[in-house]
Amino acid sequence: MSTLYQYDAVVIGAGPNGLAAAVDLAQAGRSVLVVEASETIGGGSRTRELTLPGFQHDVCSAVHPLGIGSPFLRTLPLEQYGLEWVQPPLSVAHPLDDGSAVTLTRSIAESAQSMGLDAHAYERFITPVVEHWPMIADAFLGPLRPGPILQHPLALTPFSLNALRPAHELLVHTFKGERARAVLAGLCAHSMLPLEKVSSSAAGLLLATLAHVYGWPMPRGGSQRIVDALAAYLRFLGGEIMTDTEVKSIDALPRARAYLFDVTPRQLLRIAGSRLPAGYQRSLSRYRYGPGAFKIDYALDGPIPWRAAACLQAGTVHVGATLEEIADAERQVWRGEHSERPYVLVAQQSLFDDSRAPEGKHTAWVYCHVPNGSTVDMTAAIEAQLERFAPGFRDRILARHISNPQALERYNANYIGGDINGGVLDLGQLFTRPTVRIVPYSTPAKDIFICSSSTPPGGGVHGMCGYFAARAALQSVLR
Ligand SMILES: Cc1cc2nc3c(=O)[nH]c(=O)nc-3n(C[C@H](O)[C@H](O)[C@H](O)COP(=O)(O)OP(=O)(O)OC[C@H]3O[C@@H](n4cnc5c(N)ncnc54)[C@H](O)[C@@H]3O)c2cc1C
Repeated sequence: MSTLYQYDAVVIGAGPNGLAAAVDLAQAGRSVLVVEASETIGGGSRTRELTLPGFQHDVCSAVHPLGIGSPFLRTLPLEQYGLEWVQPPLSVAHPLDDGSAVTLTRSIAESAQSMGLDAHAYERFITPVVEHWPMIADAFLGPLRPGPILQHPLALTPFSLNALRPAHELLVHTFKGERARAVLAGLCAHSMLPLEKVSSSAAGLLLATLAHVYGWPMPRGGSQRIVDALAAYLRFLGGEIMTDTEVKSIDALPRARAYLFDVTPRQLLRIAGSRLPAGYQRSLSRYRYGPGAFKIDYALDGPIPWRAAACLQAGTVHVGATLEEIADAERQVWRGEHSERPYVLVAQQSLFDDSRAPEGKHTAWVYCHVPNGSTVDMTAAIEAQLERFAPGFRDRILARHISNPQALERYNANYIGGDINGGVLDLGQLFTRPTVRIVPYSTPAKDIFICSSSTPPGGGVHGMCGYFAARAALQSVLR
């Protein structure tokens, strides 16, 4: 490294992608500094006592099929640095109004059985995708690259053809009964898109496949453990981390050959816009943010009293009953409205990890989708949904911590208007986020890269955006 530079690379933001980028660069022998605005590292992967002493809540991400399945994170020795995955017996339970629940486990056959009359249809639908997971991960967990797709066109067909279809149409055509349609609608709604939109199936197909290949685990002790392990490994490799330092201008940073930004386009424009050509600035300013999240963390006097007993075996419970109800709720959010019956995502970590709450007590992590920037209080609507499937839920509440979209954005500047995915994940922004470029992590400024979830493959704690951004830097300015 020339003495002109203090570091080979400075990474702005210590979220999972920023840390993954830093680790990849450090593994390649480059000197790296990570600069983080908050007092603690982790971005969307942090754990705190949000309600009462002894209750450890995941502030953002809670459940990590994408973490355990990440082709990059899987190569790192994170277990040696304290990461331990806890696998609940069921990945997902989806309660219905008749008091039963559809469930997803590692076993395709067992999961299919819970889908009643669509058991065979589900096995036919998911088995070819699960069988080809390594190729699918290679082709789709990153930028759209012709290489992996051309190498295995036939193996990828069951995934790629279905992933591009609107979820509603795919589910109605593939399944006859409500049970399979409902549980898969819950998975597809993770896309935060209306289920009528092209590509709204992609997230659902990916998450169902991961349930069978790796399960949907959570780290013992909370999501914080993922980033703590990344940070500890980074320090072992010689990387440095500076917290409590908000970067307002690229000019204030130590001199480096490359700057990798774990921020979204709007922030990049503020911090480094002056270094970027006008045309690229215009493209970034057209980047679209999606719906927000309204989140409640609960300290509870006991487990959630689900009517369907299977829900107590599941790390994640999807509350929204039918395909039509979930589709209706997500459509309303997209139109800027608030559903009276929102689709509610629930994680119940303390059922499977006793470090999360005092003995006999429990945590619940709950959110629903709302329009970007919404200020509407969804507490009553969320709790009505929970009472519907778990009568007596309200009586178990000891304390709540509420985060609306503004609170999420105050907590982490990347959550613009409460958008937890770093931008809409529709076809127009799935593979080409943040703008159309052959290497989407690069910018026209040769030393500036983007490594956040505003690049492919998008939201989630998987570190793949960081990994690909680091690769882009290593193949150009850090070669
Ligand atoms: C409520 C909620 C639930 C979620 N649930 C899940 C889940 O269960 N599973 C899952 O896989 N994902 C989940 N996610 C999504 C996941 O958290 C994000 O997709 C992921 O954290 C993105 O990682 P990132 O590194 O790109 O960005 P972030 O995690 O947002 O990290 C960005 C970092 O950059 C820092 N930063 C921003 N601006 C500056 C600046 N100017 N100077 C210095 N530092 C700066 C921020 O403080 C932050 O630490 C959830 C998110 C939320 C909010």
